Amino acid sequence: MLVVMRSDATEEQIQTVVEYIERIGCKAEPIPGGTRTAIGVLYNIEPLDPNAFLVFPGVKDAIAVSKPYKMVSREMKSEDSVVDVGGVKVGGTKFTVIAGPCAVESLEQAMTIGRLVKAAGAECFRGGAFKPRTSPYSFQGLGEEGLKILAKVREETGLAIVTEAMDIDCLKMVDEYADCIQIGTRNMQNFSLLKAAGKARKPVLLKRGMSATVDDFLMAAEYIMSGGNSNVILCERGIRTFANHSRNTLDLNVVPAVKMASHLPIIVDPSHAAGRRDQVIPLARASAAVGAHGLLVEVHHQPELAFSDGPQSLLPEQFAALIKEIRCILESCILPPEASR
Ligand code: PEP
Ligand code: MN
Repeated sequence: MLVVMRSDATEEQIQTVVEYIERIGCKAEPIPGGTRTAIGVLYNIEPLDPNAFLVFPGVKDAIAVSKPYKMVSREMKSEDSVVDVGGVKVGGTKFTVIAGPCAVESLEQAMTIGRLVKAAGAECFRGGAFKPRTSPYSFQGLGEEGLKILAKVREETGLAIVTEAMDIDCLKMVDEYADCIQIGTRNMQNFSLLKAAGKARKPVLLKRGMSATVDDFLMAAEYIMSGGNSNVILCERGIRTFANHSRNTLDLNVVPAVKMASHLPIIVDPSHAAGRRDQVIPLARASAAVGAHGLLVEVHHQPELAFSDGPQSLLPEQFAALIKEIRCILESCILPPEASR
């Protein structure tokens, strides 16, 4: 249920509604908004009767929220959310590029790539210090040493840092060093990790699970938001299908679907969707055209020597050319946000 207050409602009238919501055993969640004061009603077991709220002075409307997710839903908040990642805005009418290697391998490797992606126009640097690998024998990441390297890249280049927290143990450390905590595909439904991310200070970049529906995806984001962290960025990174011409299948339909259902920003990772360099650029172009709020792209200056995901990493010059193309695409199809929803 969403209780919409009149624009001239007094603080006292709002407070009376909040107290009523708490008296019936629910949680009142004031929803920030430019044009209206609204209060979300959470944790109701049974459906609520709108008439019970309409009798209060100052209440304009009471709308039943039809979706299982509430805090992430457009019904609760009509304006796009803009998330601040270490001073870099993600969401709204902005297009943000996050780039870097799959894994942090050394200070020299990370710094070289950091400087190159910064010069090409990226605003955030990505690189895993904790790597979820299919094989236990593959490179698992440098751990805290990798986080320290990422902090040095930020210091030197000014790029904001996005890196993955694989479990609750390393989440605290990632929260300290990084500007944004990535939750990977394999962890999208790790509910204890999502709850812990809800208590983190930094924003969360939540990747879509390999076979998650839009509802599964948004419910995962709801876990983080309901835990107290409203700074969530969604990321489509390809889903598992029967197709074998790419590592995964990039589901671009999800971008307009999510933008319709939720106010949260959604970016696209064409690298993990493609799994091969030649498909990354066309998929990145399509992501910009479809209305995504940004890209997460793997870039490596020596992909043949990369510890992980070399075959899908763009060369720095390919990345720089892609950024130029993306600018042209965005300039040629800038529409008011409502028109593209
Ligand atoms: C990554 O971004 O390096 C990664 C492991 O991504 P995903 O969780 O999408 O596989
Ligand atoms: Mn990778």
